[in-house]
Amino acid sequence: MTNRMTDKKEFCGIFGIFDHPNAAETVYLSLYALQHRGEESCGVAVFDGRKIRHLTGMGLVPDVLCPEKLKTLKGNSAIGHVRYSTTGSSILKNAQPFLISHNKFSISIAHNGNLTNAVRLRRELERQGAIFQSTMDSEIILHLLVRSKENTIEGRLAEALSKCDGAYSLLLLTGEGLIGVRDPYGFRPLCLGKKDGSFVLASETCAFDLIGAEFIREIAPGEMVTISKRGLEPVEPFSPVPPASCVFEFIYFARPDSRIFGQSVYEVRKRLGMSLAHESPVPGADIVMSIPDSGNYAALGYAQKSGLPFEFGMIRNHYIGRTFIQPSQEMREHSVKIKLNPIMGVIKGKKVVVVEDSIVRGTTTGGRIKAIREAGAKEIHMRISCPPIKFPCFYGIDFPSRKQLIANELDLEGIADFIGVDSLEYLSLEGMIEAVKGKAHCGGFCTACFSGQYPTKVHKSALKNPFEKK
Ligand code: SF4
Repeated sequence: MTNRMTDKKEFCGIFGIFDHPNAAETVYLSLYALQHRGEESCGVAVFDGRKIRHLTGMGLVPDVLCPEKLKTLKGNSAIGHVRYSTTGSSILKNAQPFLISHNKFSISIAHNGNLTNAVRLRRELERQGAIFQSTMDSEIILHLLVRSKENTIEGRLAEALSKCDGAYSLLLLTGEGLIGVRDPYGFRPLCLGKKDGSFVLASETCAFDLIGAEFIREIAPGEMVTISKRGLEPVEPFSPVPPASCVFEFIYFARPDSRIFGQSVYEVRKRLGMSLAHESPVPGADIVMSIPDSGNYAALGYAQKSGLPFEFGMIRNHYIGRTFIQPSQEMREHSVKIKLNPIMGVIKGKKVVVVEDSIVRGTTTGGRIKAIREAGAKEIHMRISCPPIKFPCFYGIDFPSRKQLIANELDLEGIADFIGVDSLEYLSLEGMIEAVKGKAHCGGFCTACFSGQYPTKVHKSALKNPFEKK
């Protein structure tokens, strides 16, 4: 059992398969691989040739989708979802996939991302008499879809999504097949693969590795693919816009063994560390260490670039139960002490470079630095493999409010004092973009949480969105 227990919460992983004899079991395995994208609820929906059945629950994949329950979900096509919630929103009615029946059709939906005009859309729909079952903005897409006068599900979906702003990588399971679609900016990843001749779609390629599927390509920003007995039919129903894939997927969210946005996450993370070493060396340092696990790959890159030895100065306890993923501040502080233990023999008397992927509130980082200091470090020089996070995300990542973002409240010196390090440096915005693009330029990136430059119009209502993010 793993959990990441940080103040950066990821929102949702999705997986779908069409026309495979072990559809539900394959979704179950794939959701294991995507568990890092959401640990609070999960679910699966399966089409058995007549009807879509679904099963959702609170908890990790093995808690909710046990083999006995999966046996009841017979069928050849299925979608699945894992979700992380914001404080207080961890409720069953928000667990996905959602399932609706309307006139002669049933549809199940799994969504990763966040609509930025959800408040306005929901109010309009409620004025027209719509009744919502959940507080999730994904349900808005279904309401818009059933109101469309288009003849096909694809046409209805395209019309519904043309009214939605923000981020969505979506899977829809229908009586005819599977539909995958990515918003025109391509904020969240969505990958296409094949297993035993059957098409599969997943948030990240690590899911394909686990089930033995071959990675074919990514769904392009703004692309919709329909997978049915006719095969795979791609369409591009939206006007093209400059792509803006979430750069934070590379920095923290995606698994390092995945390929997304055209690149290996592992390689990009290492390059971020190398750029950091180039920009902010620590003369006379003895070792480079990471805050595990998220800082491991950038720390390795930093060490390789700087020629310093990389050491595991902290060991992570992998046996922490779900009790400690509760997102209250008090629990978070307990979790820091329980989760990571410094190795005194590695750290004592050393001038240490500590590499971390990012700092959000600073409280978690401060607790870890304190532990390293108590283990006898002579000097602690912290290096962060992204720029300071100063702005909220409206596209599906739950950073705390601006006031809780430490880089928004304090300058560099103030943050260094707060977390208790001898020096602190962040990777520059230019350095990050350079490292992320690598040799192969793979399109544009959203950097809004660092730069404040939002790729889309941010509706005023999104600032106080009462709906849940995914
Ligand atoms: S604001 Fe930051 S976290 Fe949100 S999509 Fe953009 S880069 Fe990603």
